[in-house]
Amino acid sequence: MNFVSTRGKVNNIGFIETVLMGLANDGGLLVPEKIPQIPAEKLEALSKLTYQELAFEIFSYFVEGEIPENELKELIEKSYSTFRHPEVTPVKKVKDNMFVLELFHGPTFAFKDIALQFLGNLYSYVSKKTGETIHILGATSGDTGASAIEGVRGKEGIRICILHPHGKVSKVQELQMTTIDDQSVLNLAIKGTFDDGQRIIKELFADVDLKNKYHLRAINSINFVRILAQTVYYFYAYFQVAKENEGKNVNFSVPTGNFGDIFAGYLAKKMGLPVGKLIVATNENNILEGFIRDGIYKPGEFQSTYSPSMDIQVASNFERYLYYLLKEDSKAVSELMENFKSEGKIVVNTEQLLQVKKDFAAHGVVGEECLQTISKYYEDTNYLLDPHTACGVAAYEQCNDSHEVCVTLATAHPAKFNESIERCEIKQSFPEQINELFNKPQFLEVIEADKNEVVHQLETLFRFSAN
Ligand SMILES: *Cc1c(COP(=O)(O)O)cnc(C)c1O
Repeated sequence: MNFVSTRGKVNNIGFIETVLMGLANDGGLLVPEKIPQIPAEKLEALSKLTYQELAFEIFSYFVEGEIPENELKELIEKSYSTFRHPEVTPVKKVKDNMFVLELFHGPTFAFKDIALQFLGNLYSYVSKKTGETIHILGATSGDTGASAIEGVRGKEGIRICILHPHGKVSKVQELQMTTIDDQSVLNLAIKGTFDDGQRIIKELFADVDLKNKYHLRAINSINFVRILAQTVYYFYAYFQVAKENEGKNVNFSVPTGNFGDIFAGYLAKKMGLPVGKLIVATNENNILEGFIRDGIYKPGEFQSTYSPSMDIQVASNFERYLYYLLKEDSKAVSELMENFKSEGKIVVNTEQLLQVKKDFAAHGVVGEECLQTISKYYEDTNYLLDPHTACGVAAYEQCNDSHEVCVTLATAHPAKFNESIERCEIKQSFPEQINELFNKPQFLEVIEADKNEVVHQLETLFRFSAN
C-alpha cells in the first residue's frame, strides 16, 4: 500500500518506509493513499478470529506483502505473548449498556503497549534486515515512554531517548521509565510540559538532515503504526459487544490526549466497521472538546490534572483528521497548518462543523468529576477505574443515549495513578510488577526544555552506540 503526507509533498512510499519516516519529511503526517474498505461478509468472518488472527488480517491490508506472511504472523505472536490476558484486550461488562475494553494487560499496564510491543519488534526486524542502527526519539506524557522503552530494551541495534516533563508524571510512570539500567536507554526529564517535549522532537524530526544523520525514528503516535495497531481492538471489541446487543448502536468513548487513539477508531469506522458515535473524552485540557462544539481549535494554558497522560494542549494527530475533514485536500491542510503556526488557532466553516458533529461527540471532564466518577463506580459496581478511564466513563454518561450501548476504552490500570485513587480514599493493592519498582535506583538527566540541550544529549548517547 502507498502512503502520502497530509501536506502533499511526500507520495508513493510503502509501509516500511512510512514506519521509518515517522513524521513526513514535509512536516505533515503520513496516511494511507486509499483507506481499505472491508465488506460486510469479510467483517462477519473477522468477527470469529482471535486477537492475533484479527491483527494479522487488519495489518495485511496496509503491509501488502512488504513483510512475508509467516514473518508478520511471528511478529504479531511475539508482540502479544507478553500480555497477561489470553484475549489480549478483554471486554468487561460494567453495567447494562456500558462495557470497558481493558487495554492495560501489557508489560507497562497502559494501552500504549499494544502498539509499542509491535513497533519495538518491527524496528528490530527492520534493523536485522537492513543492518541499520535504529535511534528512537520520543516525547511522553508518561505512558508512551515506559511502553516504548519496554518495547525495545535489550534488542540489538536499537538506542532510545525519551523526553518526559519533569515532575509532571505519576510516580509509577517515572519509575517504569527510569529504573532501567541500560546504556542504550536515555531518559531526559525536561523542565517544561509534554507540549514542550513534543514541540522539540517535532522540530528535530522536521530537520531532515539531522534525522538522516542519526537515523532518528519515531515512536509517538505521529508514527502511523501506532494508529494501525490500535484499530485492531476497535474491531475486536465491536464484534464481541455487537453479538450480544443486536440492533443497537455500539458507541466508543475514548480518553483523549494526542488524538491518536480516537483517530484509530475513526479509521476503523472509515474501513467499514459500523460503529455508532465516537465520543472524545478530555480533561481540563479540553481544546478538542471546544473544537467539536464550536469548530475552533485553539490551544491555551496547560493544566495539570488527575489524568496526567491526557495533559496535552496540541494534539498532533488532529492533522490526520483535518485531512479527511478537508476531503483529502493537502493544499488546504497545509494552509490551515501554516495559519495555525502564525495565529495559534484553526477555524472550520459551518458545513465542516456539521461534519465534525457527525463524526464525534465530546465531553470535557472538569474539577472533581473525574474523582467522583471513580468513587461512584467503585461503590456501585466494585470496578476500579483509573483516572483516564474515568474521564471516558464520565463522557459516556453525558453522550450515550439510553437505547445505545457504549464501550469505554480503559487506557490504564489504576495502580499507575495511585495519587488520584488515594484522593478518592480508596486503597488498592499493586500488582507485583509495580511493587518491585519502588526499590530500584533511577537513571535520568534533568535538563532545560531546549532543543540544543536535547541534541547535545543525543550526541553523547549515539557516540556510545557508534562504538
Ligand atoms: C496516552 C494516553 C491517553 C491518550 O491517548 P491519545 O492517543 O494520546 O489520545 C489516554 N489515557 C492514557 C492512560 C494514556 O496513556
